Amino acid sequence: MGCDNKKNNLSSCTCTYSSCDKKGNCCACVAYHRDNDELPACFFDEKTERTYDRSFRNFVNMFNKRGK
Ligand code: SF4
Repeated sequence: MGCDNKKNNLSSCTCTYSSCDKKGNCCACVAYHRDNDELPACFFDEKTERTYDRSFRNFVNMFNKRGK
């Protein structure tokens, strides 16, 4: 399914996995990662995003390292 907002979404997408077919289609991106107990790339800071580990655990660890 296409996304009417793809161009706009891509302008703020922080995902570095450029070959992903869901890039810019946020509905599909969220659904995919939710089904895998993960979060989309845009929830992670730049350094953590580049690990490609989108797990809840990695997200929590990122915040714990920040002291938040
Ligand atoms: S966050 Fe995941 S689904 Fe979304 S564009 Fe990046 S690799 Fe694809």
